[in-house]
Amino acid sequence: MSHRAGRHFLQIPGPTNVPDRVLRAMDRPTIDHRGPDFNRLARAVLDGLKPIFGTHHPVVIYPASGTGAWEAALVNTLSSGDLVLMCETGHFASLWRGLAEKLGLRTEFLPGDWRHGADPAAIEARLAEDTKREIRAVCVVHNETSTGVVSRIPDVRAAIDRTGHPALLMVDTISSLGSIPYRHDDWGVDVTVAGSQKGLMLPPGLSFNAMSQKALVASKTATLPRAYWAWDAMLEPNRAGWFPYTPATNLLYGLHEAIVMLMDEGLDNVFARHARHGEATRRAVRGWGLEVLCADPREFSDSLTAVVLPEGHDADRVRALILDHFDLSLGTGLGRLSGRVFRIGHLGDFNDLTLAGTLSGVEMGLALAGVPIVREGVRAALDFLVESKRPTSLPR
Ligand SMILES: *Cc1c(COP(=O)(O)O)cnc(C)c1O
Repeated sequence: MSHRAGRHFLQIPGPTNVPDRVLRAMDRPTIDHRGPDFNRLARAVLDGLKPIFGTHHPVVIYPASGTGAWEAALVNTLSSGDLVLMCETGHFASLWRGLAEKLGLRTEFLPGDWRHGADPAAIEARLAEDTKREIRAVCVVHNETSTGVVSRIPDVRAAIDRTGHPALLMVDTISSLGSIPYRHDDWGVDVTVAGSQKGLMLPPGLSFNAMSQKALVASKTATLPRAYWAWDAMLEPNRAGWFPYTPATNLLYGLHEAIVMLMDEGLDNVFARHARHGEATRRAVRGWGLEVLCADPREFSDSLTAVVLPEGHDADRVRALILDHFDLSLGTGLGRLSGRVFRIGHLGDFNDLTLAGTLSGVEMGLALAGVPIVREGVRAALDFLVESKRPTSLPR
């Protein structure tokens, strides 16, 4: 491939752009994972992750993609044939369900239209019906990366609580953690699943489980086979800052730096930044005269936006053209949304001018592709960025 000048714009909703600081932090010798320097690093990351998950309990780190942490959540807490209630929010919810089925779990899928989040009322109704308490877990994807829709986890928790049902609540936060507010403890989540390559600004290769006391108790009697994913085998050495097998040392250097960066900016500021960029992006989409896939404004995702193309226009053709002309990668339509939407990632290491560049590339690409748009999207987004800029005190 011939050289392309300037920076590639990687605006898919994960993997996200890895900041130079994180790249530099990883560019170091791999050290003895049974030595004192590693021990300090391990303790720092195991502790440093807790505020990001909003938990006081331990967080387990796997050298694996997010899919591994999905599997870990299920095999540690459930037994063969257990019934799991899942919510059809989109492609990632469907994949998690498929994985659960392969593990020998029985799943029930609450139907969804891929434009809304998990429906707390439907969950409540189904649990209330389950007088025999057969359902062992409710699984929800917090930020459905295929649709740009956020499920309201506190409402789901309240719905479960109203029924008094003992099912565990498991939440996939792979594309929301570190971008959108999330509180594992306060929201009463039993298992949180996360990954490294989205809001945490790392390369792919790490994934995480946070767990509640209730989930730990369930793990004592759960009988699905597990070895590599076993929480107890991980938690025991972790207490002293060690791992049961060779950890992904260099990714942990990067994780340490990413945690420092998130804490330095302040999580609330990180969330406010994402909220502002989410709103600006939606204004751009409306400015173009196009439609945001998410149908409920309470559920808009601030980490990505899925844009619906008018009938007769292939979203993948537009994406290919934008990559070719502007060196900008956008997310493809997944599953049943294939060809119908493209997704703009606005999460991770991202600022006003990255957004301006991204939206400019999209606007030019839509025009080049002959999609009937109004060339007012970028303008609307920039206006909002200016209006919503917090006043800073410049020296006079
Ligand atoms: C990216 C993503 C996954 C899959 O993670 P992998 O690292 O590709 O295994 C699962 N769920 C959600 C919500 C995601 O965004």
